[in-house]
Amino acid sequence: MNILSVASEVFPLVKTGGLADVVGALPAALLPHGIRTRTLVPGYPAVLHKLKKRKAVGGIGNLFGHPATVLAAELDGLDLLVLDQPVLYDRDGGPYLDPTGRDYPDNFRRFAALSLAAAEIAGDDVVAGWKPDIVHVHDWQAALTPVYMRFGSARNMPTVLTIHNIAFQGQFGASIFPELSLPPEAFSMQFVEYYGDVGFLKGGLQTATAITTVSPSYAHEILTPEFGMGMEGLLASRAADLTGIVNGIDVDTWNPETDPHIARNYGPTKIKQRAANREALEERFGLDKSSGPIFCVISRLTWQKGMDLLAEVADDVVARGGKLVVLGSGDRALEGALMAAASRHRGRIGMVTGYDEPLSHLMQAGADAILIPSRFEPCGLTQLYGLRYGCVPIVARTGGLTDTVIDANEAALSARVATGFQFHPVNADGLRLAIRRAMRAYSEPKVWARLQNQGMKSDVSWAKSAERYASLYSGLLAKG
Ligand code: ADP
Repeated sequence: MNILSVASEVFPLVKTGGLADVVGALPAALLPHGIRTRTLVPGYPAVLHKLKKRKAVGGIGNLFGHPATVLAAELDGLDLLVLDQPVLYDRDGGPYLDPTGRDYPDNFRRFAALSLAAAEIAGDDVVAGWKPDIVHVHDWQAALTPVYMRFGSARNMPTVLTIHNIAFQGQFGASIFPELSLPPEAFSMQFVEYYGDVGFLKGGLQTATAITTVSPSYAHEILTPEFGMGMEGLLASRAADLTGIVNGIDVDTWNPETDPHIARNYGPTKIKQRAANREALEERFGLDKSSGPIFCVISRLTWQKGMDLLAEVADDVVARGGKLVVLGSGDRALEGALMAAASRHRGRIGMVTGYDEPLSHLMQAGADAILIPSRFEPCGLTQLYGLRYGCVPIVARTGGLTDTVIDANEAALSARVATGFQFHPVNADGLRLAIRRAMRAYSEPKVWARLQNQGMKSDVSWAKSAERYASLYSGLLAKG
C-alpha cells in the first residue's frame, strides 16, 4: 500500500513542534505492515540545504502563477517529496513566521499550494510512475488537500486528516477565496466556508474520508465546546469517522542507552548512572549541588502549556527544597516571568530561552521529574520522553497526558503500574499539590525508583499505534 503523507514540517528537517516528530517517525513504523509512505513537504531553505542528493521527479506548470518542481530525496529512511517553489518558500524566517515573528501575509497561498500540489500528485501524473492509494494530511496547512481532491481526478481516493492541535485552524477572510483556484461552489458550508470566512481545517474536516487525532481522550474532548474551539458541532456530525490514536516516539533517537547528547548512558537496570547526568545538568544551568528533586520543563512558553501556572508555583518548588530548570521560548510575558523567578532564585532555578534539541535530551536524562501543566494537550511528547528516560512526568489530566501517564494513586502504586502524577483541576493549586505529592514520593527512594522503572518499561514506541493506522488504512481501502 502506498501513502502520500502531506505536512508543513517533518523531523529532522524542519520542526516547530510535535507534528514534525509524528510525520517523521510514522513512516518507518508503518513499513513492517507493508505500507510505504512518501512525505510531501514545502521546499523551505532549511529543507533544501539539508537534502544534498535530490532529483526532480515531476513538475507542476502553474501553481498559483508560478511553476513548481517536485524533488525526491531520501533522508534517514524517509522517502521525501519536496515542493520546490522559491516564490512561496524561499524565505528568511521559519516555516510560518518572518524573522520579526509575524505570520507571512501569504501563508494561505503557501499552504493552499502545498495542498493543491498534493491533490495533483494524487490524481494526475505529476510524479511519473507513482500514485498513492491513500492521502494522509496533517493539520490545517495540508487540510485543503481533500477539498482540492474532491474537484480533481483523485476524487474517489480515500483521505485521512489528522488533527494535531485544533487550536490552529487556518482561518482567513473571504477575500482570499478567489485566489484558491477552487470552483465557486466550494465557498459553502459543505466545503471551506466558515462563518463567512475561509477555513482550511474546516474544509478538511468536511471532506476527509476519515479524521484522526492524536489521543483517544482528545478525540472525546474536541466534541465538547470547552475543547472543540468552535469545531465541536461539525465534529459531532462526523463522530463516526473520528478516532484517537496516541502518538509514539522514535525510540532510537530517544534511547538513554545510546543517546549521544547526554553525559552518561544508562538503562532501566542501571538507573543509578543517571546521577552523572544530574550533575551535568546542574552545571549547565548553574544550579547548586543540594539534594532534593530537580523538576524540568521543556516547552513552548504559552498559555496552552500552563506556563503562567508554572511561574506561579516556582517559589513554592524552591521553598520546599526542589530545583527547577526550564527550556523554552514563546510568549514574552511568560518568558519574563520565568526569568524573573530564575533571578530570584539563583542556584535553584535555571532558565535557557530558545530551542535546543540536545539540551532537551540532557534535561530528560538528568532531571528527576518533568512538569507538564497544559490546559489542553492533544497528545504531548515530552511526557513520553520522560517515561523512557526515568524522568517522572507530572501532568495535567487532559488529552493525551491522561492516556499515557498512570497516576501514582494508592491502587496503582500497590499494583506497581504507576508511572507519574496527574492533577485536576488544571490551576496553580492543582499543580502545587501534584508537586508536593511527587516530593513525598521522591523522599522514599524505593517508591521513586519503582515509578522510574515502571515508566521506563512502558511501551512508548510507535508499534501499537502504527498497527492502528495500518488497520484504519486497510478499512478505508476495503470500503472502496
Ligand atoms: P507541541 O507540539 O504542542 O509544542 P509536544 O509535546 O507534542 O508539544 O511536542 C513538543 C516537541 O518539541 C517535543 O519534541 C519537545 O521536546 C520539543 N521542544 C519544545 N520546546 C523545546 C525547546 N525549547 N527546545 C528543544 N525542544 C523543544
